[in-house]
Amino acid sequence: MINKVPHSAHQLIDQFGRVVDYIRLSITDRCDFRCVYCMAETMTFLPRDEVLSLEECARLVKIFVGLGVSKVRITGGEPLVRKNALWLFKEIGQLKNLNELVLTSNGSQLEKHALDLKNAGVKRINISLDSLDAARFKKITRTGELDQVLRGIRAAKNVGFESIKLNTVLMRGVNDDEAIPLVKFAIEHAIDIAFIEEMPLGDISHDREATFCSNQDTLKKLQNQYPLIASTETTGGPARYWRVANSNTKIGFISPHSHNFCEDCNRVRITCKGELYLCLGQEDKIDLMPLLRDHPNDDQAVIQAILASMAIKPKGHDFDLRRAKPAVVRFMSHTGG
Ligand code: SAM
Ligand code: SF4
Repeated sequence: MINKVPHSAHQLIDQFGRVVDYIRLSITDRCDFRCVYCMAETMTFLPRDEVLSLEECARLVKIFVGLGVSKVRITGGEPLVRKNALWLFKEIGQLKNLNELVLTSNGSQLEKHALDLKNAGVKRINISLDSLDAARFKKITRTGELDQVLRGIRAAKNVGFESIKLNTVLMRGVNDDEAIPLVKFAIEHAIDIAFIEEMPLGDISHDREATFCSNQDTLKKLQNQYPLIASTETTGGPARYWRVANSNTKIGFISPHSHNFCEDCNRVRITCKGELYLCLGQEDKIDLMPLLRDHPNDDQAVIQAILASMAIKPKGHDFDLRRAKPAVVRFMSHTGG
């Protein structure tokens, strides 16, 4: 166990000595895509009053930043389909002690919003891209248009974010032959790419064990094609990075199955319902929405609940693809990626 030396502003330290300085906030469970590994074909989304208002989201982020959080990722569902999402980015972007405001998006709305997001203070963007073939892209996302996403990536590149990273989920027999073309695309556009192993979150229609594609295999494939230099960079998460020699591209491998990344975990997740999940792969949570709504003018109850949650942050996840039922019944789009 690594015990980090906490900065004096850090008030979120769990029972294993891990400092929590990073939150991921899902601002909607809705999405314009229905990616096969993320959602079922027909989804029932939450009624509006069961979702945090944007004002409640802003209040929560401010409270977390007051407790020492310095990095906030806005995610979803698709965060940019939420009406007035830009207002929230502007509010968060102004917080004094926040170092990094970042976004995960499917790219569909980026052509419209990239510049405003940059101006609001978003530093980095992760954009999901699982295929460069339009028909296959449609099959994976069920509703997505590849061209629209490529235009979004171009727009993000043009406005000059500090970094852009593609997120790719490879599935055996579906798109696992695209590891090299997708890396080539990333190199050509001088952006990064991360391969995410599929996680057993939510009850979906395909057999995840059959489509599971190990990052170790993907790494071997890429090493045969490109000179890769191992990087010591770490984000406190499950990603391990390699630099492609003579390029501006890093390749990340997010491997919840192959690596035990939990020791350095520095993050918690907040769903669009205001549930504070202490681990992506476990059920331990605290409901913050009732506290926010019962105490509209006093943050103390919320602060105390967040501080107390540190005692129940689990040591690690418990993913196993061979289980008949998903390890965690909630969808990634609910918890936020
Ligand atoms: N809609 C945005 C997007 O697609 O980037 C943000 C939310 S999405 C849930 C965040 C990330 O989670 C995406 O990169 C997606 O590929 C990934 N994801 C969703 N379900 C997953 C699963 N079961 N296993 C691994 N990654 C998953
Ligand atoms: Fe939507 Fe992102 Fe899930 Fe795809 S991965 S369905 S884009 S939330």
